[in-house]
Amino acid sequence: MTSFSKDHWLTLKATTRLPNQAWINGQYLDASDAACYDTINPATGELLVATAACTTADVDLAVAAARQTFEAGVWADQAPAQRKAVIRKLAALMMEHREELALLESLNVGKPVMDCYNLDIPGAAGCFEWYAESIDKLYGEVAPTDRNSVATITREPVGVVAAVIPWNFPLDIAAWKLAPALMAGNSVVLKPAEQSPLTALRLAGLAKQAGLPDGVFNVVTGYGEVVGQALGLHMDVDCLTFTGSTAVGKLFMRYSADSNMKQVWPETGGKSPNLIFADCDLDAAVEHAALGIFFNQGEVCSANSRILVASSIYDAFVEKFVAKANAMVVGDPLEAATEVGMLIDSQHAGRVRGFIQQAIDEGAVVACGGLGETDGCQVPPTILTGVNPAMTIAREEVFGPVAAILRFDSEAEAVALANDSVYGLAASVWTSNINCAYRVSRKLRAGTVSINTMDAIDYSVPFGGYKQSGFGRDLSLHAYDKFTQLKTTWLKLG
Ligand code: NAD
Repeated sequence: MTSFSKDHWLTLKATTRLPNQAWINGQYLDASDAACYDTINPATGELLVATAACTTADVDLAVAAARQTFEAGVWADQAPAQRKAVIRKLAALMMEHREELALLESLNVGKPVMDCYNLDIPGAAGCFEWYAESIDKLYGEVAPTDRNSVATITREPVGVVAAVIPWNFPLDIAAWKLAPALMAGNSVVLKPAEQSPLTALRLAGLAKQAGLPDGVFNVVTGYGEVVGQALGLHMDVDCLTFTGSTAVGKLFMRYSADSNMKQVWPETGGKSPNLIFADCDLDAAVEHAALGIFFNQGEVCSANSRILVASSIYDAFVEKFVAKANAMVVGDPLEAATEVGMLIDSQHAGRVRGFIQQAIDEGAVVACGGLGETDGCQVPPTILTGVNPAMTIAREEVFGPVAAILRFDSEAEAVALANDSVYGLAASVWTSNINCAYRVSRKLRAGTVSINTMDAIDYSVPFGGYKQSGFGRDLSLHAYDKFTQLKTTWLKLG
């Protein structure tokens, strides 16, 4: 992994322009009423930039631009190989601007800048590359009709796609939506979370440079209750892809019912279990358990926040896990050694602390981290033991670096505990017994089960949830199911 010093990043910061206007029809624009809101660096409290707080009129403008380009066919009617060339160019430009994008992401959301450089930015660029490469290899179908007919089944773009996304992986999740939606020929309006507009806005400029026609990709910045709601209720948006909390995901389903019955694809919250059986490689399990809950400050939808440990190894696991958590480097996101940076803002950090306090009040024990060492947007890796399944900390999504440890005495109990959640995004299983691993994974109600690894993810496999973690899938060729519709064309032979 590459590593740059804090001075390197501060030098780059001094010459980096921070985008702050919406991007509509190929231009950066202020909000129609010129309103702005503050975009703050959570690590320092510094005002980074005043960002356009778009209005419903701006949303109308962006959707109209998307609609116009879609109907005109300036993008949708290009040959797949032409669209592929443009999006591959975008991926290459993102890698050329890798340092700048990494810096913007880290300043904006508080995550370690070297993680942004080594993981987030190449991850997002690679996503565009993967979908660009896929599009001229997809075929339609011919149905098995009678000999006097020919019926083809082809995929067509849905039209105008709106993407409403969260702040935890701003560029990556934007790429997960944009890459398949654009490659399928749609025009897109992206609404980043109000906290994290910077990389989406920079991406828009790079997309123009790559040759994407104006109006095909628009970014409207601002508040969820204004911009997000206006997209959800818009009569001219055909498909809404959402990643965020379960509560807001449900709102989008209502917005759809109250407007034009647009397709809504929610990817929402999680409370993912990590099942640690007695015969596992304990050191590997500990190492990955830490990654599973403390990476990205625990602000990960699929974070393995419920750690279920076999009673016979419970004490040994907790001892090693606490030692690992205490050794993690927490602090300045621009320092190369930092492993756990800042939470997104002080309000969210306060919410995370509230969950820790409530866990203590309900009888859990702080094995490390906790409230004593918290300050501003920083919450240290925290491990809670003595947790039982009825406690709030075992049931609700914290979205911070807080692990709740529960114990089990049998395989059946482990599965029952794991499935005792309204969520079903991901799960992990640690065991050296392949039969146990497969038996358990079949019973787990989760979109992804990682066996002897953590949060397995790749462009080639679908990512998404069961139950109230949403439906529809990001990543893989299955993402095209969201952004295309099936057309039957039936020819009766004469
Ligand atoms: P959030 O639901 O508060 O916000 C997500 C988006 O919805 C933002 O763009 C926000 O502006 C918008 N929004 C908020 N209120 C709205 C409203 N009333 N109407 C319309 N739009 C509105 O989520 P967040 O705090 O940004 O992100 C954290 C959540 O995202 C967690 O629950 C996490 O699990 C989830 N998440 C899920 C996945 C997944 O793939 N399943 C991935 C990452 C994050």
